[in-house]
Amino acid sequence: MKRVLKLCGLGCFALLSVILFKTIRYTPPDVAAVDISVPDVDADIVAQKLSQAIQFRTISHPLGAPERPAAFQDFIDWLGVAFPNASRVTERTIVGGFTPLYLWEGSDKSQRPILISGHYDVVPIEGEWSKDPWAGEISQGYVWGRGALDMKGGVVSYMEAIDQLAESGFQPQRDIYVAITQDEEIGGAGGAAAVIAYFEENQIDIDWSLDEGSFVLRDIISSIDNDIASINVAEKGYMTVAITARGMGGHSSLPHRDTAVSNLANAIVQLQEKPVPGGLTDVTESFFDTLGPHMGFAERALFANAWLFRPVIENVLSKANTTDAMLRTTKAPTMLQGSETENVLPQAASVFVNFRLHPRDNEQTILSHIDNQIHQDHVDIEVLSVRAASAVSAHSNDAFSKLSSATRAVFGDVVVVPGLTIGGTDSGRYSTYTENSYRFLPFVFTQEDIALLHGKDERISVENLELAVKYYMVLMRAL
Ligand SMILES: [Zn+2]
Repeated sequence: MKRVLKLCGLGCFALLSVILFKTIRYTPPDVAAVDISVPDVDADIVAQKLSQAIQFRTISHPLGAPERPAAFQDFIDWLGVAFPNASRVTERTIVGGFTPLYLWEGSDKSQRPILISGHYDVVPIEGEWSKDPWAGEISQGYVWGRGALDMKGGVVSYMEAIDQLAESGFQPQRDIYVAITQDEEIGGAGGAAAVIAYFEENQIDIDWSLDEGSFVLRDIISSIDNDIASINVAEKGYMTVAITARGMGGHSSLPHRDTAVSNLANAIVQLQEKPVPGGLTDVTESFFDTLGPHMGFAERALFANAWLFRPVIENVLSKANTTDAMLRTTKAPTMLQGSETENVLPQAASVFVNFRLHPRDNEQTILSHIDNQIHQDHVDIEVLSVRAASAVSAHSNDAFSKLSSATRAVFGDVVVVPGLTIGGTDSGRYSTYTENSYRFLPFVFTQEDIALLHGKDERISVENLELAVKYYMVLMRAL
């Protein structure tokens, strides 16, 4: 017995030594300091322009609205006035009705062009705002209004960057296409799709694209002190499934024990029993592997020894909905339908379940997950819509390194990581055309800002606008 204890003691000591050794060696890689000069930017001018941009009610209503054409056309006309130098050096084509696509010709035609994109449509107003959402008020260091953050602030920033570079006589090395799309908030069928159609038709071979999809995150991952610039290399897909259970109809005064509704309830419970399989692989692994060395000692010990602690890490990450959504395809029952009358038993009851597809999943893997989970008769599954998850773009190539250098030049000591966009953006479409598409808006984004996206009192700090213009100027000079 003593011998067994002694052996175990030795084993435990050896294991602890390995864990400790790996933890100590698990440090951030040396990254060379960036030696890039950052231009001065007059933040007040940018804030004024964003204030004007917000005043156009370019609302995307899911069903379309009569006011759309006027506000959208007015916004397009305003771009020409607000950014005269950008207008002078670029060639503009309108695609999809209301999407301006600019070409800023580069000096070196042997290089493939890139695309910088954003959208100017916004979601409708909800809730009680403390400011007029359409006035573009500038106060307390912020520009207030719908679209300030998502994403007229981004559009104004990159247009201002072009305007200032053009004014100084700068010409980019390679061709830069700039899109300002009209309907990202309702799926991009008119804007981003038309941009791709234009590229296809004119055989324009885009090297990579840059659009919204993440930020410079501050105080969002509590175990890391540095800001985290998550330059997202993929985005999740979308799939909605109708699950319909059947039962005998009739009068509710004489119900059968099993009804369509109770069958459906069972099916939902079965479906929800287990999450879609997932884990620390692919882009999620790259994300945490890059962040791990920057964490506190306890977390570093876990990530440095993922070979041993992977189940523990996955368990911890799956407990919070934000990190769980990075690990796997999520599923959310959303709409329910049964009888239309309170005293009638429905012959069918249904639920819509919305899945957000992780890049490792597709329609087939999700259908077989549903099949494994729901084991009862009288249930039909119908796929209502699918948009595949994007391909995962490279993060060890020249494009990512340029995006990363510009970020570090402007934002200083940030940790740049390749991440995964949980929602959908125009890049979902761009990634079907370009090999690499990146999702990143160069704004510092805090926990508090999460509620502003599509929420009330949307605003962006004037300081953030200044940083964003600098970022796009540094990036365009480096392309
Ligand atoms: Zn957006």
